Amino acid sequence: MWSPASLIFVRERATMNDHRKLGRELELFDTDPLIGAGLPYWLPAGAAVRQALEDYVREAERRAGYQHVSSPVLGKKELYQISGHWDHYSDDMFPPMKLGAEEVVLRPSLCPHHALIFRSRGRSYRELPLRMAELGGMYRSELSGVLGGLTRVRAIQLNDAHIFCTLDQAVDEARAALELIGHAHRDLGIRPVRYQLSLPGPGGKYVANPELWERAGRLLGEVLSGVDHVAVEGEAAFYGPKIDVQIADPAGRESTLSTVQIDFHQPERFGLEYTGADGGRHRPVMVHRSIIGSLERAVAHLIEAHGGAFPAWMAPVQVVALPISEAEIPDAAAFVARCVDAGLRARLSGPEAGGLGARIRDARLVPYSAVIGAREASEGGVALRLRDGRRLDAMPAAEAVQRIAALAGAHALDLWDVPG
Ligand SMILES: [Zn+2]
Repeated sequence: MWSPASLIFVRERATMNDHRKLGRELELFDTDPLIGAGLPYWLPAGAAVRQALEDYVREAERRAGYQHVSSPVLGKKELYQISGHWDHYSDDMFPPMKLGAEEVVLRPSLCPHHALIFRSRGRSYRELPLRMAELGGMYRSELSGVLGGLTRVRAIQLNDAHIFCTLDQAVDEARAALELIGHAHRDLGIRPVRYQLSLPGPGGKYVANPELWERAGRLLGEVLSGVDHVAVEGEAAFYGPKIDVQIADPAGRESTLSTVQIDFHQPERFGLEYTGADGGRHRPVMVHRSIIGSLERAVAHLIEAHGGAFPAWMAPVQVVALPISEAEIPDAAAFVARCVDAGLRARLSGPEAGGLGARIRDARLVPYSAVIGAREASEGGVALRLRDGRRLDAMPAAEAVQRIAALAGAHALDLWDVPG
């Protein structure tokens, strides 16, 4: 039962942690009416967070056996007629651009390009499962009335991948993708609200092939066996059912962050084939999966979930050096340079920015503050204060940098304890 007081609390928390408000305050991103609604740009601090996420995802994919590709954000209208987007999804697409006799479209998804890359030469069963990943642009013609911040945008950078595999491999591949998602959520310090099996519902625009829907639904059910989940009608993709990993914003509004789908439709539309061990031609299955969804939505959620205090490995500034007086500025600058050399994002905040207390308060979202006074300077050391309030005894600068870099490299959520 909600009391008025707790309602006010929920509302206040929702406003305080609203990613649009924090995004402005922390100078992460902004928009300009001349660029247009739903087309935010990233400021240096936001771009640093985004870049850290991109690096994380690419590395996680590389370790999981994915190969990265890069493909254009445009395609001919015919491409989307073949994929089915034109018939089932054109309400969400930008209108085609006429170019001589051709019509090109800003892509509404990466799948058709990846299907063509698979088809670009003959494939053998020995290459399967073939895991193809791309962090690529796609576009959605959201109406201007619903735009705002990073959650409803017209230009989307999607963490996408397609696994081309045999029918026998599909469940294992989808399950491995789900594990990759769970691991990423732990490293990002976020907790999904639920796993959802998204099924078709009445009135939606879906591809008509009951047998394929039934088969894909059954396999996804297998993938989810042992995972707490709910089935929801009306949330499927136009070409098949999917597993959606749901997150909620501080006001409790749900959206999908990560997703896994088993698709029989696109391989058929694009006539995808591989040569089997029997020498015959077979059709692969396509597993679509996204670990963190779009970078825009992921960053919006991370801002709100952490109230701007990002895990150290993705913080815009990871270390701030605080010389107590003018005399220690050279030592603080040398410490910053050492951090930068170790791959960390560090800056100096000197006495010209105010007293030590004020500078520490200004840096309250920075995971590590390195205070350098006369004693530390003479001993080549720093006294670290962690964002969570812990204060450590002075230690050699080299030791501090090495430990912080190791923690960031391990995507540790704790600011000092190295994960076992
Ligand atoms: Zn796809």
